[in-house]
Amino acid sequence: PHTTMGKETATTAPHALLVSFPGQGHINPVLRFAKRLASKGLLVTFSSTVDIGQRICASTETTPGTLNPVGEGHLRFEFFSNGWDEDGDDDPSRRGDIDALLAQLSTVGSVRFAELVRRQAEEGRPVACVIGNPFMPWVLDVAGELNIPSAVLWVQSLAVFSIYYHYFHSTVDFPADYGSDDVVSVDLPGLPALKVDDLPSFLLESNPYKTLASVILSQFDNINKAAWVFANSFEELEHDALEAISKLSPVVPIGPLVETGVSGVIKGDIWKAEDCMEWLDRQQPRSVVYASVGSVVVLGRDEMAEMAYGLRDSGRAFLWVVREDCRHQLPEGFTEDVKGRGMVVAWSPQDEVLAHRAIACFVTHCGWNSTLELLTAGVPVIAYPQWGDQLTDAKFLVDVYKVGTRLKAPVERGEFAKRVGEVTEGEKAEEVRGRCLALKEAAARAVAEGGSSDRNIQAFVDDIRRRVC
Ligand code: UDP
Repeated sequence: PHTTMGKETATTAPHALLVSFPGQGHINPVLRFAKRLASKGLLVTFSSTVDIGQRICASTETTPGTLNPVGEGHLRFEFFSNGWDEDGDDDPSRRGDIDALLAQLSTVGSVRFAELVRRQAEEGRPVACVIGNPFMPWVLDVAGELNIPSAVLWVQSLAVFSIYYHYFHSTVDFPADYGSDDVVSVDLPGLPALKVDDLPSFLLESNPYKTLASVILSQFDNINKAAWVFANSFEELEHDALEAISKLSPVVPIGPLVETGVSGVIKGDIWKAEDCMEWLDRQQPRSVVYASVGSVVVLGRDEMAEMAYGLRDSGRAFLWVVREDCRHQLPEGFTEDVKGRGMVVAWSPQDEVLAHRAIACFVTHCGWNSTLELLTAGVPVIAYPQWGDQLTDAKFLVDVYKVGTRLKAPVERGEFAKRVGEVTEGEKAEEVRGRCLALKEAAARAVAEGGSSDRNIQAFVDDIRRRVC
């Protein structure tokens, strides 16, 4: 396995070990960062839990430990147990309980992960840097105990980083919940005034995911242990937020982490994408509404029905992602009903879909990856946020970047047609399109060689090399 790469071989290049929380919205940016680092000559290991590992390896036709050439370096995979698969009766439904999963990862997963890190040195690949993820603050503790420098990849926006930072440090008052009039808006440096429904819902009293909220916030307790804090964003997009937050916490933007030509074959899809590209090829340019609520959001039966009939009645062709676990919520006979004009898939190759010339607009829940992907593709948005940081992302998409419009819950079917028209036809739509194209170009510049984010990644790689020498 000693591949020659100029002066270095895969076994002498500095080794960066990245670890991802086992959720699609984390795996994608962490794996894309892993590929960027590998392409600059590092030996990179991507790790997550075993259940995720099996799916990634199956979909990319690789196996744990294999060296995959990426640009000037190599990418390999290695996974650790969260303990649930060790007791002989791994019940996949347990993973749906996010609070239980987070607790399991921090108690058993952290021990297994530490073993994985130690094994690297024993096998001749000592780790130069461990790069963790905000849902697993214990990664920094493991790295510290093993005397290995560490970094964090923040996978949400800099605006959201800033909101959590200020909340954690109690620098200003936050509203207690929806409907309470204790605090009308939150004013933070570098951010627009935020109303209660623009804030990450995890900060409100009604948030049902208590462990998740405390895990996210606990990151700010130990973030000083990280030698580097990276964010999946770019300077040109979040300039004001970046300038303000860098004075308090040195965070370095290295995004947008989206797929590039370098190594599109290695992808981290948990589910297999259905083929919809041929269907898209047959559609007119800018004619199709693409709709998806990502990998976690589950809409209620009524919302699903309104969305279904809204898409059907929009007068447009549409491509709608309805995950397998949500399929039963579709109105009876719907897919037959819309055959020919509407396509419903369980999972799509979203990056390719958004880049397709047939896409007119994107109805999205505004997860941060989907947000960056639509900005990079220059596609107007119909924001349909549900909870968490999606609410803040929607606020920025609509009021700051001004690339679309927002649906307010409870959504009613007639709204879809109206909103689609708003972002695709007429003078206002032309203005939206102009801003989409400007941001698309800015995103491309940031990640191109010598661009703002590329320079930040290069500086990190150079720093790692210096530390190893
Ligand atoms: N995604 C995909 N196919 C789909 C739906 C989503 O590949 O049919 C990808 C999407 O491109 C994004 C990720 O899954 O990279 C979802 O992350 P996001 O932050 O948008 O939302 P989350 O799923 O974490 O709520």
